[in-house]
Amino acid sequence: TIILGIETSCDETGVGLVRLDGSGAVELLADEVASSVEQHARFGGVVPEVASRAHLEAMVPTMRRAFDAAGLKMSDVDAITVTCGPGLAGALLVGVSAAKAYALSLGVPLYGANHLAGHVAADTLEHGPLPTPCLALLVSGGHTQLLKVDGLATSITEIGSTIDDAAGEAYDKVARVLDLPYPGGPPIDAAARRGNPRAIAFPRGLTGPRDARNDFSFSGLKTAVARWVEAREPEPIPVDDVAASFQEAVADVLTAKAVRACVDEGIGTMVISGGVAANSRLKELAAERCAAAGITLRVPRPRLCTDNGAMMAALGAHLVAAGVEASSLDLSADPALPVSTISV
Ligand code: ATP
Ligand code: MG
Ligand code: FE
Repeated sequence: TIILGIETSCDETGVGLVRLDGSGAVELLADEVASSVEQHARFGGVVPEVASRAHLEAMVPTMRRAFDAAGLKMSDVDAITVTCGPGLAGALLVGVSAAKAYALSLGVPLYGANHLAGHVAADTLEHGPLPTPCLALLVSGGHTQLLKVDGLATSITEIGSTIDDAAGEAYDKVARVLDLPYPGGPPIDAAARRGNPRAIAFPRGLTGPRDARNDFSFSGLKTAVARWVEAREPEPIPVDDVAASFQEAVADVLTAKAVRACVDEGIGTMVISGGVAANSRLKELAAERCAAAGITLRVPRPRLCTDNGAMMAALGAHLVAAGVEASSLDLSADPALPVSTISV
């Protein structure tokens, strides 16, 4: 069974192809991404209208590249999965409209599916089936959540989330403060590796004894970094040390809370996904703390952590394998789709 995945929730046009075999194994056949990130860089964030137009222009060429890479024809496709939320309304609509047109013309079932569940499903392309229950730490540009996954296609429950900024958003805002380019994750990660993570004691949000156990807060940290830099001016800013100290605060809170949630829930497997899962210190600290707590850690390679179509194709394979009903062709985009709605 060949499944086509289409992703357009933000600024990446992603087209992926996977094969689901009779045993339930999912094999990655193609993963093509066209990004409009460079068009947004000078604005310091994604401009929705620019993203929508870029998706329109990139959809057909990206589709073609994916089929070429897999050595498949359109007529080989047995089912289509498309991100129908959460994300930018105009951007989502480009993917949803394209997917409907392909599904109608090919006469195959269409699954409107959740981008966040797709981020978690990405890991199965690298590490195989996810044992359940497992805990997913989803850390991306727009979301920071702790999820209890009882079935990738059937049951995902949010047990905690950020009460203000997402972790990736904090990276992007701190990069601005430090005059580093957008998106901020990669340049801060690189600077942090040259700096001293203990140089500055930045706050760890929501870690007090009476604070919500599974929730996160990063806006205080972002403000603390901005205040520290302001107070320092006009002296030169030790960018590497600030980046390392900020990164340490983020990785510390994320891993401490995720590991504790596993212990609380009696869960033995943790998967980290979303763009921030590409972060070197987060992976290192998570590996250390999971090992100490006897938890198996899974983190997909960076390419599968950021937005792509293969993750949606993988989620589609799990939906098909679980016998979940396909969507109606009048499905629409839902910018605020909750993670518990895995498919519509
Ligand atoms: P969402 O998935 O919540 O809708 P999104 O799709 O925009 O948001 P992703 O593409 O999953 O988010 O991730 C993008 C984010 O990941 C950006 O904020 C970026 O700065 C961050 N990021 C990428 N690489 C790294 C890294 N090495 N370290 C930290 N953050 C990173
Ligand atoms: Mg992106
Ligand atoms: Fe994403």
